[in-house]
Amino acid sequence: MNPRVERLRAGLDSLGAASFLVTRPVNVRYLTGFESSNAALAVGADRLVLATDGRYVEAARELGGVEVVQAERDLLAWLGERLGELAVAPVAFEADHITVAGHRSLAAGGVELVPTTEVVVGLRAVKDGEELAAVRRAARVTDDAYARLAQEPLVGRTEAEVAWWLERALRDEGADRLAFPPIVASGPNAALPHHHPGPRRIGAGETVIVDAGAQVGGYCSDCTRTFATGPLPDELQRAYALCRSAQETSLAAVRAGAVASELDGIARSRIEESGLAPVLHGLGHGVGLEVHELPVLRPSSPEALAAGNVVTVEPGVYLAGRGGVRIEDLVVVGANGPEVLSSFTKDLLTLD
Ligand code: ZN
Ligand code: ZN
Repeated sequence: MNPRVERLRAGLDSLGAASFLVTRPVNVRYLTGFESSNAALAVGADRLVLATDGRYVEAARELGGVEVVQAERDLLAWLGERLGELAVAPVAFEADHITVAGHRSLAAGGVELVPTTEVVVGLRAVKDGEELAAVRRAARVTDDAYARLAQEPLVGRTEAEVAWWLERALRDEGADRLAFPPIVASGPNAALPHHHPGPRRIGAGETVIVDAGAQVGGYCSDCTRTFATGPLPDELQRAYALCRSAQETSLAAVRAGAVASELDGIARSRIEESGLAPVLHGLGHGVGLEVHELPVLRPSSPEALAAGNVVTVEPGVYLAGRGGVRIEDLVVVGANGPEVLSSFTKDLLTLD
């Protein structure tokens, strides 16, 4: 019995479908452990069929617990002709992944299709023990890389050099790959939440936002710390203290049952009331096989958190043209509070 597949099966009735066709590779991986760029999984009440092309079919046959069929490279066109043999209609499909052209191919055989969105990513939002273990390992790698970064001088190096240094540190500490390209944003660039590290040389007396994550066993981590490169101007010191208190206050409220928009509101109102800076992004996001997944912590998220969600808590205070601060922890949502996976200090460190 595959409990992840069973959870999907249990939802078929409420989708008005007899089968579910999973085409998004990361979702196929979640349900079967099978990694490929081209596979589809047909989940029926009592059948589980994995279709993939010749490049992957031998690896698929080693999985066990799933019926494997060899498909063509153009998987959706192939499925369009054979879906009726592989799955009982109506067949739910991932409308938020398939293109219009892909849908046309899939529908060509006349099988009744039911569009769905966010079904498997919804299941993925609550992690099982094996997944949590992988996320914890990824978080530890990130902590270790930050601990090494804290020994490094920053002034005079370019953002791009520091980002590359950090990529190597993450790999050295055990990352299979990076969860995303690291952000190193210094001086005025630190006021841009998604700045790409570039040729700017880091100066003295600025803030440097460093946002990085590892991927271990398929699972991601995500952590941000902000460093000083010497004594900071008053307003950046205030920004740091504000960001930290907004982060810690919202973090303390994370627990199963907490409403995502209300958690966002705790940090948001604190920052807005300070009058120091506008709020430029939501409080956080789910993390798992992908670095951005459900649940999302923002004003428009009415849902309550569930035990086993893994989320970031990452408010930012951005002073246009002058600098910025962001502090991000990765946490597991528990019944009574958060298990904080990011253990690197939130005290303001000076790396000059
Ligand atoms: Zn991040
Ligand atoms: Zn994040």
